[in-house]
Amino acid sequence: MAPQDKNTPPPLPEPLRVAVADSHTHLDMQDGTVDEALAKAASVGVTTVVQVGCDIKGSQWAAETAAAYESVHATVALHPNEAPRIVLGDPDGWSRQGAREPGGDAALDEALAEIDRLAALPQVRGVGETGLDHFRTGPDGIAAQERSFRAHIEIAKRHGKALVIHDREAHEDVLRILREEGAPERTVFHCYSGDAEMARTCAAAGYFMSFAGNVTFKNAQPLRDALAVAPPELVLVETDAPFLTPAPYRGRANAPYLIPVTLRAMADVKGMTEDALATAVAANTARAFGY
Ligand SMILES: [Zn+2]
Ligand SMILES: [Zn+2]
Repeated sequence: MAPQDKNTPPPLPEPLRVAVADSHTHLDMQDGTVDEALAKAASVGVTTVVQVGCDIKGSQWAAETAAAYESVHATVALHPNEAPRIVLGDPDGWSRQGAREPGGDAALDEALAEIDRLAALPQVRGVGETGLDHFRTGPDGIAAQERSFRAHIEIAKRHGKALVIHDREAHEDVLRILREEGAPERTVFHCYSGDAEMARTCAAAGYFMSFAGNVTFKNAQPLRDALAVAPPELVLVETDAPFLTPAPYRGRANAPYLIPVTLRAMADVKGMTEDALATAVAANTARAFGY
């Protein structure tokens, strides 16, 4: 691929005949306006998006955007990598909110109170992304991350909202904490990354599994094996845009309008027609987020 191609948006895929939702996106991290992103997505049959908050500002923005657009639903949370940052501080300021001083448990409680307030809003359909990220957070941050995860589970249950899980290299601990706390009625593993055995565990518990563009990657056979055994009534599709652009556009910016690329690859894995999978996914997403 020539270097300039990295900056060229992938072309519009063939439209889906059955409209679906992008169950997990970050419009606030993508180029262009919200109107442009939604119009482009709708033109290929992606008529609904779930806008996911990762910190206080992002969660407030998600709630405001969902209030302004019929086709946008919001989820609100402190990302698993945000919680330790609030407690322990972040002198380098890698996140969008910049450097900050250590705030300790009191700062985390204050942030969680704002998430709790936002979670009560009607256009907020879920609490997340929360969970555990053992890839990005070292041993010093794990206690804060777990405390935050448990608090988000409690908030989701109290408000009757879906729980959106970010699980990066932390499968066993995520499943354990869900068992210990008692999972909300509707729980979604976003960017599902477990193997087939874990997919059976999730299916038995009734957890939704949302697949992202990485299911198309050459080295992702274990993920395709997991998708193959996941019951069609628990499968969702997402972009996690601007991340995880599906093949053959890896390395370029992802956006909700690329959902058809991932959905078609998923239909192949499941041995279903595109229309049958889209019909299932559309119903599952509406059920998961209660819209
Ligand atoms: Zn995530
Ligand atoms: Zn995300």
